[in-house]
Amino acid sequence: MASIRENLEVIQQKIDEAKARANREDDHIQIVAVTKQVSVERAMEAIDAGIHHLGENRPEGLLEKKAAIGDKAVWHFIGTLQSRKVKKVINEIDYLHSLDRMSLAEEIEKRALKPVKCFVEVNISGEESKHGLSKEEAIPFIQSLEKFTKIQVVGLMTMAPYTDDKELIRKVFRGLKELQQEVIKLNLPYAPCTELSMGMSNDYEIAIEEGATFIRIGTALVG
Ligand SMILES: *Cc1c(COP(=O)(O)O)cnc(C)c1O
Repeated sequence: MASIRENLEVIQQKIDEAKARANREDDHIQIVAVTKQVSVERAMEAIDAGIHHLGENRPEGLLEKKAAIGDKAVWHFIGTLQSRKVKKVINEIDYLHSLDRMSLAEEIEKRALKPVKCFVEVNISGEESKHGLSKEEAIPFIQSLEKFTKIQVVGLMTMAPYTDDKELIRKVFRGLKELQQEVIKLNLPYAPCTELSMGMSNDYEIAIEEGATFIRIGTALVG
């Protein structure tokens, strides 16, 4: 297994090249290391390599890693969050990447002790297997979040289809960017929507070319 430091060097190089291709040299791209498939020790190796944003997709995994690593990391919850699990994790995380329904927003409002930075998850590709709101539902949903004091919509999140068709992947990321521009135009104080969480091990370079500001990388970095 390659060291995380070595993997990070390769990824950082590719990030820089993608930024240059898109004339985004001055933009900060936040790497979120997805540690869902690795041990606490491997996650700690990521911290030692200088990575300080970690992502998990199950409450149990998040709590286990956080118990060991604590405040040395910024914590991202990237998986589907069941309403009954909100209480367990919502005050342990810094970012939620998977806000996708009103019942979840209501539960967060009830349980969170302070505002939570949320990405609204959108199913741009329209694949049935994917979570998230449809492109059409996203804006009405965001508008309906106004009444909540604990939800701050920092951005949008999507997952591209798992395919070799780079143009299809690009179209999905571009669709999320277009939707973001529409949300920004609404000027909602609780939804600045300045961020885009898109791109994983297979497609982060395309995501950066299309405007990603948070990339969620598992296999290529820690796997
Ligand atoms: C697992 C996962 C990732 C990371 O996937 P890799 O292909 O291993 O980089 C990113 N985002 C979400 C939502 C995931 O579940």
